Parts: sequence; C-alpha cells; structure tokens
Amino acid sequence: MTSGTAKYIVVGGGIAGVTCVEQLASQNTVDDILLLTPYPLIKAVTNFRQVSRTLEEFVVEERNAETLKRVGPRVRVIQAAVAKLDSEAHEVHTADGRCFGYGKLCICSGATPKLLAKGNPFVLGIRDTDSVQELQKRLVGSRRIVVAGNGGIALELVHEVRDCEVIWAIKDPSIGTSYFDSAAAEFFLPSLGKSSSPGASGPSRRTKYTTSPGSTAAMGKLVEGMSGSALGPDWQENLQMQGANDTRRVHIEFECEVQQICEQKPAGIVMRERDVGVQKGQTEEESWSVYVKLSNGAVYGCDFIVSATGVRPYTQPFLEGNELTLAEDGGLLVDDHMTTSIPDVYAAGDVCSVAWTRTAHWFQMRLWTQARQMGAYAARCMVADSVGESVDLDFCFELFAHITRFFGYKVVLLGRYNGQGLGSDYELLLRCTPGVEYVKLVMQCGRVVGALFVGETDLEETFENLILNQMDLSAFGESLLDPCIEIEDYFD
Ligand code: FAD
Repeated sequence: MTSGTAKYIVVGGGIAGVTCVEQLASQNTVDDILLLTPYPLIKAVTNFRQVSRTLEEFVVEERNAETLKRVGPRVRVIQAAVAKLDSEAHEVHTADGRCFGYGKLCICSGATPKLLAKGNPFVLGIRDTDSVQELQKRLVGSRRIVVAGNGGIALELVHEVRDCEVIWAIKDPSIGTSYFDSAAAEFFLPSLGKSSSPGASGPSRRTKYTTSPGSTAAMGKLVEGMSGSALGPDWQENLQMQGANDTRRVHIEFECEVQQICEQKPAGIVMRERDVGVQKGQTEEESWSVYVKLSNGAVYGCDFIVSATGVRPYTQPFLEGNELTLAEDGGLLVDDHMTTSIPDVYAAGDVCSVAWTRTAHWFQMRLWTQARQMGAYAARCMVADSVGESVDLDFCFELFAHITRFFGYKVVLLGRYNGQGLGSDYELLLRCTPGVEYVKLVMQCGRVVGALFVGETDLEETFENLILNQMDLSAFGESLLDPCIEIEDYFD
C-alpha cells in the first residue's frame, strides 16, 4: 500500500534536487511535487548572479527543508531516505517502510567520498558539514596530518590548515591536475608556504557557502553508505582549521599513492631524509597514532589521514531490480534530456554521468554550478516530456565555465582549459607574472578552445565570447596575450 503519490518525485536535498523542485514548482502549479530527503536541512541557492553568458556566482545556504514548501502550492517535503526503487510499479520505498508512487522521478542522490580505508578510525573523508566538523575537532589535537588526493578539496584543505604539519601525497607530478597544468601549478606552489594568501582579506568574488549547526539533528532512518549534501564553494571559509603544532609546514610527496596504513610503526623503517621534522640521516623517534606507507617507499607517522581521493556517484538504493545503465565512473548514465535508461526516471547532479557529446566546449565535472544547472534542466525536461513538448539542450551546456578561488587567487576555467579531449592537437599561449596572474589560452587551428585565468585578469568575458564564436585569431599570433594590447577593445 502506498503512503502517497505525486506526479513528480525528487530524491535528495542537495543543490541538484532542490533546484529541480524549485524549477518544477515554477513551471507547474497543478501537480504534486514531492521531495524525499533524509536530513532536516537542504541546500538552497541564493543571490544568483549571471556574471557573463555562462559564468555564474551564487550563495549557497543550508536551510530548513520545510522552507521549500514556500516555492509552490503543491510542493511537499518528506524526511525519508529512499531505500529501493521499483521502476516497473513507478514506486520508491523508503528506509522507514513507506512507499510513494510517482509519475516522473528525478534521482539527485549525489556522491560519497572514495575512502582510502573504509572503517579505519584514523581515515577521514570530507563530504558534508558533519565531516568538516569532525575534521576541525581532530585537528585541534594534531601535530601532523597526511592528506591524500589532488583534487579541489585537497587543494583547499592543504592551503587552509594552520599550525599543523601537512604531508600531501599526490599521484601526479604536479599539484591540482584537475584544474592546472604543471606551469600553473608552479605559480601556486609559493602560496603553500605563506601564512596568508593574496586575496585572503579582500572581498571574495566566488560562490559562497554557509552552514547551520547540527545538520544531522533529527534525521530519519538512513540508508547505508549515504552522506549528507556535499559541501561546496568556500566551505572552508570561516572554519578554524587549526592544529596543535607551533608551526605550519607543507611537504608534498609527488607521484605516489598510499600503499598501507598501520597503527604500529613498521619495524625497521627509516624515515625519509627529506621527511618533515626529521634531520638528514636521523630516524624519527616520535610515536604516532597511525603510520602511512607510500608507494614511493616513504613512511610517515601522523595523527590522522584525510582521504580526498574523489567521489563515487551514490546509486546503490536505485540499482536492485532496475535496468539502470551505469557509466564507467559508476554514475547513472543520462541522455541529453537527463533521462536514465529507464522511462520516467531522470537523474541530475553528482549522481549522474552525461552521455551526450554534441557540445564541443562543455564537459561534465562534479561541481556545484553543474549540479544547479542539471537540476533545473532536468525539471524542464520532466515537465516538457509530461506534456509531449520538446526542449532544447540548455545554453549553459555550450561552454564549460567555472569561477573559483584557490590559495586566495581568483581562478576562471573556460572550455577545454587543460586541453581535455584534444589529444596533442593544440597549442598553448601563456602569460605569467609570478604572484600576480597566470593566463593560459588553449588554441586549436587559430581558435581559442579553452582558457585558464588566475588572478584579477578581467579577461574572462572577452575569451568566453571568442570560444563561443570560434573566431579565427591566427593573424594575432602571440600578441593575443600581449599585456600592452587592450584585447577586449578588439572583440567586445
Ligand atoms: P549532494 O550535495 O551530495 O546532495 C545529495 C543529496 O541526496 C543529499 O542531501 C543526500 O543526503 C541525499 N540522498 C542521498 N541518498 C539519498 C537517498 N537514498 N534518499 C534520499 N536522499 C538521499 N563544487 C564547486 O563547484 N566548487 C567547489 O569549490 C567545491 N568544493 C567542494 C568541496 C567539498 C569538500 C566537497 C565535498 C564538494 C565540493 N564541490 C565543489 C562539489 C559540489 O559540492 C557538488 O558537486 C555538489 O554539491 C553536488 O550536488 P548534488 O545535489 O548533486 O549532491
């Protein structure tokens, strides 16, 4: 017996799910819209600002889930975790034994961190507000931590931690490879030694994130492996990331992975000469809570390990008994209508993997902006499909565009900023003033196909247009980045 039905059911109170509900409510005031979310708090976008055609900024707030009812007369929010999908019966079953029938379903269940060692009390993954609070708590008594991973979370964490030694283990030859080439990584390296960053005291021009305390208070019955909504831009701002050491030092171990984690110091192990705090030729006598052996042979003792080695789409409750096609990365494969392989089941945000390839300058990256865009677009598709209308792929999927901040610098990423998917068939134009700006253009056949701007360059709008209109710029050659030329005067 069902506990209720709704024309539209959305699963997950993260940014994708909440935006999906808001968009559904703005387009449809007659049908029931139901959000199923396990926590009493949801993520909401406020102060949205379209910076340019594709770049956007907004504030993200944690809010009481009940506030979502205000977006439309037929919106309901039920605090429950979905434990099973019965797509044939068009029903979802919750962990607390309820069952809801749907006309169209959108799965926005996000992702969970890939943990180095599941269940190990010394290994911490960062995903939601609770995990960051746990990190802060543990840092208070810590002298040294090991951070494993080279994505955005690791970058921000390593930069923010104070009064603690950080051993940063990355599998690549340079830092932040998801965002930077090795030259850009060099630009950032000096910032790791600084106690404050260039823009630290200035106004932040990126998406903001605010949290409320006690996010899991009063939560309902949960499903195994599920976490709260992901954190997002500026998650570390205003959070004290302070250890118990009298100094902060960052030591990077390149091209290695964590091979072994053990609570006893491995017998006969001599610490590396370049080991933090260990003088040449000495062995490290201090005892630590846990030891990490890296694939390059180095062994470090530390207080705990932060596993920031990426995320895995959270699909588990929806798979059993349903022929859902998964992408290689484990995400629910969706077409250009955000539809999964099962009729009337859509997916958006971190849980999905897009299967379309028809936009030359856009690709998927599990980011806050894309979760919002996909949630809104999925809702438009759900409504259009319900009434038999067609809907074009949203313009936001024409160009990959992201503004963020790393180490206090404004960072703008456009198109195939790292030559993604271009093989070796491209050229780079670079301009760099150490400590001030780093500008990179990715050129193919005389046209700009990607760009990376670090610092206050104000070049983003001009080059966004140049990527979108694919103007042939061969005649300019390297003078395209000549600082004496006001490039925007030519093309704006
Ligand atoms: P989520 O926010 O994970 O929301 C999923 C929701 O589904 C949650 O509410 C969850 O509780 C719920 N759920 C899960 N399972 C079930 C179930 N069975 N039943 C009901 N509900 C369920 N992005 C950026 O753009 N810039 C950044 O600087 C940035 N920094 C980040 C820093 C950190 C530490 C992390 C973790 C992520 C960061 N991201 C950043 C990524 C960004 O936060 C995510 O891409 C985005 O939040 C994904 O939104 P989502 O709605 O798809 O998923």
